[in-house]
Amino acid sequence: MFIGFFYFLAGLIFGSFLNVLVYRIPKSISIIFPRSHCTSCKKNIPPYNNIPLVSFLMLKGKCKYCKNKISIQYPLIELITGLLFVFSYNYFCFYEVYFFGIISSLLLCIAIIDFKHYIIPIKLFFTILFITLINAIFSQNLLHHVYGMLIGFSYLTFILILTWFIIKKQPMGFGDILLITTLGLWLGPLKILLTIFFSSLLGILYWGLISLKDGYNKNRKLPFGSFLTITSIIIYIIKI
Ligand SMILES: [Zn+2]
Repeated sequence: MFIGFFYFLAGLIFGSFLNVLVYRIPKSISIIFPRSHCTSCKKNIPPYNNIPLVSFLMLKGKCKYCKNKISIQYPLIELITGLLFVFSYNYFCFYEVYFFGIISSLLLCIAIIDFKHYIIPIKLFFTILFITLINAIFSQNLLHHVYGMLIGFSYLTFILILTWFIIKKQPMGFGDILLITTLGLWLGPLKILLTIFFSSLLGILYWGLISLKDGYNKNRKLPFGSFLTITSIIIYIIKI
């Protein structure tokens, strides 16, 4: 129980760091300087007002100085990361306890950035690639993970070539291809195929709903990276 709480706290702190990444990476701001500040009035936030989750609740979701609303996204990312860490502690064994919490919360980070900005930041991508590679080595079944990577990559290249021949249009970005290759390295052969399948379904569903709401637009962008990452986390958990 006590150790579980410790993992929750570690997740909250890591989630707070992820908030910095989500806000700063798309704007190309350094993740170290300047210090944490209010996005409205730019005043520095003192450390005692920067406690994950607690500060948001104590300040009732408003900046201490300018009283502007603080986005609910901040405490939500912290809470979800905390929960992912606790879940990891309760559900997995050995090396996976550490890797699942970190990889899934970094993927969550990509999901939010892609959803808001339609980009997959290359720095974040390489960080995840590096961690999934170590995870694959620790698993003592490196080949299984390498097969996943190769299958993800070749399946996608096949789809890309096929759609290019049929509709003469590139259906997804380069970032999506890199992401699927990395997810393959994390998930292995079967689970990466399931992830591609279900995230495509999710994409079609999302596209249908948005088209119903805002009208048909054949040039509408889809945050496919978000669907991929969220689906991959769920598929990883499911025991197959
Ligand atoms: Zn402010």
